[in-house]
Amino acid sequence: MSPYRNLEEYNMDITDEIKEKFSSVIDEIGEDKHREGLLKTPERAAKAMLFLTQGYKQDAEEILKGAMFKEDYDDMVIIKDIELYSLCEHHMLPFFGKAHVAYIPNGHIVGLSKIPRIVDVFARRLQVQERLTHDILECINNTLKPKGVAVVIEASHMCMMMRGVQKQNSVTTTSGFRGQFEKIETRNEFLKLISSDLS
Ligand SMILES: [Zn+2]
Repeated sequence: MSPYRNLEEYNMDITDEIKEKFSSVIDEIGEDKHREGLLKTPERAAKAMLFLTQGYKQDAEEILKGAMFKEDYDDMVIIKDIELYSLCEHHMLPFFGKAHVAYIPNGHIVGLSKIPRIVDVFARRLQVQERLTHDILECINNTLKPKGVAVVIEASHMCMMMRGVQKQNSVTTTSGFRGQFEKIETRNEFLKLISSDLS
């Protein structure tokens, strides 16, 4: 047996329910659901949907609280270029891009890997980019109670790129700032530090 196995667990009752519905969708769009390549598609699609929405069952504040450490460091901490994949709540199509997060500690720091984890917790739900930005911002603000927190998200939306206006190169940028980042100098310093990634 290999030393590491990444186990995925699915509630089979829910998986079966969603599977039946995907099967109907395949039928309704005019495909042959008995075709060999599609035989297992409803189950795969159901599992993919459950994976991509697992954030509903996860508690981002608990994740942060589990890795907070007392520390006097009080300069800006920046975690940039966090990969982000989410589903837009209007079309259930992916939007994806990068998140940049910064905070100024107020007696506590948090394990660096926890910031990308909470980005995932909020991204793995049906979302709009604006609320996703706000969810991450408020979670860090309420839990870590820092002197300031900033979140910038740049993302491309498949619902715009593949359908609708078909603007294939447009990137949507959203941002939120609390505490010291509401001051223009602090905010500009943060934006400058991440700006190599902003087009
Ligand atoms: Zn959409």
